[in-house]
Amino acid sequence: MRVLLVGAGLSGAVIGRQLAEAGHHCHVIDARPHVAGNCHTARDAETGVMMHVYGPHIFHTDDQGAWDYVNRFARFLPYQNRVKATAQGRVYPLPVNLLTINQFFGTTLRPDEARAFIEAKADRSITDPQTFEQQALRFVGRELYEAFFQGYTEKQWGCSPSQLPASILKRLPLRFNYDDNYFFHRFQGMPEEGYTALVERILDHARITVELGQEYDDGMAQGVDHVVWSGPLDGYFGYRLGRLGYRTLDFERFTYQGDYQGCAVMNYGDRAVPFTRITEHKHFSPWEAHEGSVCYREYARAAEPGDTPYYPVRLVQEKALLERYVALAQETRGVTFVGRLGTYRYLDMDVTVREALDAARVIAQAAAAGEAPPAFLDSPA
Ligand code: UDP
Repeated sequence: MRVLLVGAGLSGAVIGRQLAEAGHHCHVIDARPHVAGNCHTARDAETGVMMHVYGPHIFHTDDQGAWDYVNRFARFLPYQNRVKATAQGRVYPLPVNLLTINQFFGTTLRPDEARAFIEAKADRSITDPQTFEQQALRFVGRELYEAFFQGYTEKQWGCSPSQLPASILKRLPLRFNYDDNYFFHRFQGMPEEGYTALVERILDHARITVELGQEYDDGMAQGVDHVVWSGPLDGYFGYRLGRLGYRTLDFERFTYQGDYQGCAVMNYGDRAVPFTRITEHKHFSPWEAHEGSVCYREYARAAEPGDTPYYPVRLVQEKALLERYVALAQETRGVTFVGRLGTYRYLDMDVTVREALDAARVIAQAAAAGEAPPAFLDSPA
């Protein structure tokens, strides 16, 4: 089978690799001049720091298969994400844990006491939280919500947390101990030479060709047996039903001699601060030593045509439009839609790898059976 993969991010690379190893011929194109999509990393010319060009990416998972897979192609070094937050004139550890609670309230509570203390602050009239705000008020109470989540989320998503799904907040743990690891997964690490080197290795196969700086056009599908699309779902259809909403990010780069903030990620909860966070990239590679430092102030806003899409918004109006695009996609033969943009979901890298492995298997099996591979592994609507 000859397969065209549109997008050289994690999805396209993993699917291409798997299909190539199964004997298929894969051509991977990407409109950008580099592989790895939004997890692209590159060394800063001035300081030598490995930059997460499109914002921080930390690989964390409980999925042994996804972990083993990425470790086949890169050496992962231990990295634990320990985020700090500046809010209301003080610095706290995130995610909200016992130190955050005790510092914030000026208490010396032990775990059981803190649990009871927070439970007393929780709005127990909310029995089945649907929105981000309800989830926060039910589980952390109003004070912590206002300090750490409300302002940050308004900046990040450009709307009230009462309009966002509870699932976004459920990404973050709430801990009644002093564990300040941002993630609770068994495996966590960073590829020693960055994500772009990882993706280049995945794509390095005799039956894979890669063409960068190449936009897709419909004619390209003519000579191939199947297309794997990891670009924006609405983009495949020329945005003919309208545009699905995305948040994009603007990064304000600045350099510093020495250690600017002492950690990789500092979040800013206050509304009055216009950015959401500052990332100091040398701290993402703690095994390296650099005198100079490069930081990004991160600002979120609605993506306009031509902007890089980052986070699918998935509010009510997007959901209705998404359903219509999903229906269109399901009527389309010869294309499988994958990844964060192709399925319009807030995907972490490990889930992306897992789904890509599954997609490759399904596509190869369908081809072997002489059937058309499905448009989606699971309907994203
Ligand atoms: N969030 C927040 N305050 C914080 C960090 C996160 O309110 O200090 C909310 C915000 O709405 C964000 C969501 O939690 O979009 C998920 O956070 P995560 O750190 O997973 O976001 P990412 O790193 O993927 O941007």
